[in-house]
Amino acid sequence: MTLRIGVIGTGAIGRDHARRIQQVLSGGEIVALSDVNRASAEAVRADIAPNAEVFATGEELVDSPKVDAVLVTSWGTTHEQYVLAAIAAGKPCFCEKPLATTAEGARRIVDAEVARGKRLVQVGFMRRYDAGYVALKDAVRTHTGAPIMVHAAHRNPAVPEQYITPMAIHDTLIHEIDVFRWLLDDDYVSARVIFPRKAARSHGKLRDPQIVVLETARGVVIDVEIFVNCHYGYDIQCEVVGEDGIARLPEPMAIQMRLDAKLQNAILTDWKDRFVASYDVELQDFLKAAKLGTASGPTSWDGYMAAVTSDACVQAQERDGEAVAIRTPARPALYA
Ligand code: NAP
Repeated sequence: MTLRIGVIGTGAIGRDHARRIQQVLSGGEIVALSDVNRASAEAVRADIAPNAEVFATGEELVDSPKVDAVLVTSWGTTHEQYVLAAIAAGKPCFCEKPLATTAEGARRIVDAEVARGKRLVQVGFMRRYDAGYVALKDAVRTHTGAPIMVHAAHRNPAVPEQYITPMAIHDTLIHEIDVFRWLLDDDYVSARVIFPRKAARSHGKLRDPQIVVLETARGVVIDVEIFVNCHYGYDIQCEVVGEDGIARLPEPMAIQMRLDAKLQNAILTDWKDRFVASYDVELQDFLKAAKLGTASGPTSWDGYMAAVTSDACVQAQERDGEAVAIRTPARPALYA
């Protein structure tokens, strides 16, 4: 059976996911497209999915009997309405991060899915599918002993003027927030944010860099440096310190060279290249579960907890080093 998929939001990532399904992965076909800018959906049809129908609205796409499953890849502020529509229609739905732009919105999705009584939503936290993080999780489980600390960094060479201080949490740290909950199998209890002096390349409404300190229920302390004008490259670092040893996230594969009296490794500069393989794995996982009428991978609950944690981190940005408590509500049995 070929899963008939509709894509809502045909911008950068929507187009790329459509290409994956049409040209790289097996078991799915793009049969429907919708975008607030109709010309964008038509361009994806012309370039990638010639048999797809273009729908005027995302809701019409979700309700079409031609569509078995939905990808929501529109702007973050519109995710909630389309995910709720997919749940109401009983159709599996892959939603790019964030699940919703507020914790209340993500909670409404959790409640709708729980009321429906089965998993239908996979959230696009693709790092869980990255071979490096999968190996790191395995090393922590089998070798390092119980984790005590995590030291991490998320560095971008530069960001545009529109990128302001809270976006360091909502757009950047959100991936660490999810992947460390998964890596440690633990929940957060508090967040603090410390600002060193502002880097010279930072701009008007951005305090860059910043260090976010998260503490988990089991007492693990995680420090994440977010430095989005670091200039030198796109660099993701993660080191887990356990009772018996230390495990580090592997560097992306790069040819090592001895040149001009230097030992050199290239560093990536574009975030799109860093986790490119993991997008394929996450979407293949979506196709597999959606064919069975359900979803796997990161849940609505994970999306909700990421939103709760993000809100606490943004509050902590305004509290000058003071800790903000993070409360984890009772987890519904659907996400046990
Ligand atoms: P983008 O290029 O701006 O694409 C978003 C598309 O959605 C645009 O074509 C936009 O229309 C369209 N859109 C806006 N409102 C809509 C609505 N109400 N109904 C239907 N379509 C609507 O952005 P992007 O970079 O692809 O990002 C999309 C989402 O994916 C964001 O939530 C982002 O955080 C997420 N993302 C995740 C990753 C990851 O690593 N997991 C990477 C990139 C993006 P216009 O043509 O008018 O702009």
